[in-house]
Amino acid sequence: MNFELDARYIALQQQARAFTRAIDPIAVAADESSQVHPGVLAALQQSELCALMVPAEYGGRGERLDPLAICVVREVLMATCSHADSLFALQGIGSYAITVAGSAQQRAEWLPKVGRAESLAALALTEPVAGSDLKSVTTELKATESGLLLSGAKSFISNGAAADFFVVFAREGKGYSMVLVPARTPGVSVSASPELIAPHVLGEIEFSNVALPVEARLGQAGQGLDLVLATLGVFRISVAGAAVGLAQAALEEAVRHTRERSQFGRPLARLGPVAQLLADCVTEIEMARLLTYRAAHRALEDPAAALHHSSMAKLAASEMASRVVDRCVQMMGRWGLIRNSKIERLYRQARPMRIYEGASEVLRLGIARQLVQDVP
Ligand SMILES: Cc1cc2nc3c(=O)[nH]c(=O)nc-3n(C[C@H](O)[C@H](O)[C@H](O)COP(=O)(O)OP(=O)(O)OC[C@H]3O[C@@H](n4cnc5c(N)ncnc54)[C@H](O)[C@@H]3O)c2cc1C
Repeated sequence: MNFELDARYIALQQQARAFTRAIDPIAVAADESSQVHPGVLAALQQSELCALMVPAEYGGRGERLDPLAICVVREVLMATCSHADSLFALQGIGSYAITVAGSAQQRAEWLPKVGRAESLAALALTEPVAGSDLKSVTTELKATESGLLLSGAKSFISNGAAADFFVVFAREGKGYSMVLVPARTPGVSVSASPELIAPHVLGEIEFSNVALPVEARLGQAGQGLDLVLATLGVFRISVAGAAVGLAQAALEEAVRHTRERSQFGRPLARLGPVAQLLADCVTEIEMARLLTYRAAHRALEDPAAALHHSSMAKLAASEMASRVVDRCVQMMGRWGLIRNSKIERLYRQARPMRIYEGASEVLRLGIARQLVQDVP
């Protein structure tokens, strides 16, 4: 058993760090924007990191997606620029159902462009009413004599108006299906979502009687829920990777501050309660990192069985990131509160992680259900 990243992942970390160094001067502006930042996108395209999101057959790096590689990169990206992290992650989240269940033609058409970040992907599950209760979606896919017809509305969809295609989860008959909708298809319209505490590229998507060929369906009719779970099995872990990177960045800010600033004749870092907070932060980060890497490693071995560990890693890391960044703000006193300072941005960016890709309470329900089932 080896608990260290091997040379391949270290090289990837270095590549991701070179990318974040290149975008560092524009990271604050990008993180304040709810539109795609052209400079960050261009740098992402040049970095070739998105090739991690598609199989080798379509220009990717490995025969299949490597969840640990994706985690390692998100950890580095999120520490510098949440906008870049989101753009990177969405290329996988929005295209994974195509990788898993798309036809040869769908894969050949979209995946190479996804891997080069030339086409931006989006996954449309959430609706104005349906959130955690995904099975309550009302967007409907109907088979007609001439093909498929899609009607309904999706809400808070990452990449929004910037997406080149949407992978849409819809009700079909008594089950659920996934369908691939190019953004320029007649009947598709996008409007702005509300601005969030941590700006994010988001859109409200409307599908009014969108006519699609029958080949637009991903996999079989009724396979929609399985495809959502497969996507979450791989990508929920990557949220954990991003949360670990965020917490690490916050802690480094707090360490630098508490080492330099003295009160009561000593550096803050040497005052007992502050030292305890620092120790708790680094320990909790390390625990979450290990759980995340292990879950990612398991997901590579067996993606179908990954969801349970993926949920635990996401729960642990996103809750940890919120606790850590809150403590770091506290240790930095008034300097922790300065608008658009690094620590203040991290503080705002940590919060949504406990809600998207499975709210913590919903994850706990699933984890407990599995536990009760597993204990003999
Ligand atoms: C930045 C951001 C990006 C997003 N991007 C996308 C995207 O790309 N595609 C997409 O489809 N969606 C996206 N979403 C939407 C996201 O997936 C939903 O916000 C999430 O699923 C939670 O749904 P909800 O917000 O409707 O909360 P609700 O379902 O209304 O839940 C609210 C709260 O109620 C509690 N709760 C809910 N159900 C239970 C339960 N069964 N047991 C116990 N407690 C419960 C939890 O505390 C939860 O936080 C995004 C959201 C954000 C904030």
